[in-house]
Amino acid sequence: MLLEELSFTEVEEYLQKEDTMLIPVGSVEQHSEYGMMGTDFIAAEGIARAVGKKLNLLVAPTVNYGVSPHHMSFKGSATLSPATFIRVIVDLMRSFLSHGFQRIFFINGHGGNVGPLTVAMQEVKMQGAAGQLAFFPWYEGLRDTGLIEELFQSQDGLHATPSEISLTMALRPAAFTGKKKKEGEVTTIAHPWPLTAEEMRSIFPDGRMNAASWLASEEKGRLVFKLAVETLVEKIREQQKVKLPSTG
Ligand SMILES: [Zn+2]
Repeated sequence: MLLEELSFTEVEEYLQKEDTMLIPVGSVEQHSEYGMMGTDFIAAEGIARAVGKKLNLLVAPTVNYGVSPHHMSFKGSATLSPATFIRVIVDLMRSFLSHGFQRIFFINGHGGNVGPLTVAMQEVKMQGAAGQLAFFPWYEGLRDTGLIEELFQSQDGLHATPSEISLTMALRPAAFTGKKKKEGEVTTIAHPWPLTAEEMRSIFPDGRMNAASWLASEEKGRLVFKLAVETLVEKIREQQKVKLPSTG
């Protein structure tokens, strides 16, 4: 169920039997010379909607923009400052909590959002709001299953990974028509973190971070998607069993 397609009375009905809202969150940033700018939010949104469908949970509109300052030397990338992103996330959580949602779960597609998401949740809790706040990066735990290793042989890397690009190929196949794959070197470089935009570009000139982006395919994307959805369905089922503290 998509929040954007419901009326307020349908949301009222939903809240009589459910207490959970899923919110996809991503970023708009370069993903190498091959992957899409929207990779992170397209992946998070596709996965969140599939999870929502399986569990009959409501999915809010996607937070498309994230915290991506290190990608700003690559044209088309856009970033919110961490402070702006935190404010947006805090306001969204407060909005939904005020209507009686008690579990707000973000499905995250971008590593740079992890710190700010944590801070936003700490802030809402500091303000005294009751409820369960959590975020789940869709890629977390996938490596433990062995599938990523099997598909990409230790060359998935850190950014513009063939796993995330594959996933978006499965979700938006038409967008890849005419895009050309280019092979390059896969290195594992020790570098400081975080980086400025200029530092990022000088260390990773084509935007990949230790990733063999060209190993991506639509078929592999369907496998990654299936596994990511199954993994998250399990995690969210577990989280929904967590008893909420009584505030009455
Ligand atoms: Zn990404």
